[in-house]
Amino acid sequence: MPLRLPASLLAFALLAGCAATPLRHPEVVSSPAAPATVAANDNLNAVAWTQTAIEHDLIYLQTYRDAEAGLLAALQDQGWDALAKDDRAAPLRGLKPAVVLDIDETVLDNSPYQARLVKSGGEYNEADWAAWCKEEAARALPGAVAFTRFAARHGIAVIYISNRAKDLDQATLANLRKAGLPVSGPEAFLGLGTFVEGCEQIGTEKGCRRQLVSRKYRVLMQFGDQIGDFVTVLANNAAGRHRAMAPYMDWIGRRWFVLPNPTYGSWEPALFNNDWSAPPAERRRQKIDALRSE
Ligand SMILES: [Mg+2]
Repeated sequence: MPLRLPASLLAFALLAGCAATPLRHPEVVSSPAAPATVAANDNLNAVAWTQTAIEHDLIYLQTYRDAEAGLLAALQDQGWDALAKDDRAAPLRGLKPAVVLDIDETVLDNSPYQARLVKSGGEYNEADWAAWCKEEAARALPGAVAFTRFAARHGIAVIYISNRAKDLDQATLANLRKAGLPVSGPEAFLGLGTFVEGCEQIGTEKGCRRQLVSRKYRVLMQFGDQIGDFVTVLANNAAGRHRAMAPYMDWIGRRWFVLPNPTYGSWEPALFNNDWSAPPAERRRQKIDALRSE
């Protein structure tokens, strides 16, 4: 589940795939039906789609393939940069090329963690989440390994900016490697809590870490399942989210590649004013109120 944190923690982490990246997750497909005693859970369809719908896997595959098809042209174009203007803290000239990817639900599939919550009736909490991360069992999402290895083979640094806590770095790096994703070294993971000199951290926003990357790299492409993976979101409501993305709509599918996550993310608290302290029934009511019926 998504972090029950301030709007900013939106960008936390969750979902995965595998090095050989099978399109389906056989153990999920063959699992026995959930007992009838499992209580209703608003995340059931989202998690079921994420884990079992081949459409989910195909979206990831086509996204990473599309990105790969444009990567070498971006590499050749010395003026090409995929950082938002507020994140570009140093001029491009002479910088090494990189791609920047979120981790959870972008390259790693944490849906088993969420499936456990659906089955147990539990809610996301940091302790359970950290324990899941320390299992180092998340698989790579379809297309992610091929794309990142392609980038690495062409001398492009692969950098992961994640809102996994910095103290989960060892488990996260190990999981990435087990899943077949390239990890050049510990500096490839910029987790939550990374100190960036000269940059004032805003909540869990990733802007400072993107600025840190901008000092060393020309960023060819960015990948994420949350808009906070691309821009700093100052107002997490419908208008604020559109406003944050508006200047960059031409970059979608060219410099920025957005992946689907119906199971959690900043889109959800935006529906109830980011107030995780509201009772679940109240949050649910506000989500229903947000539905469009015509
Ligand atoms: Mg994510």
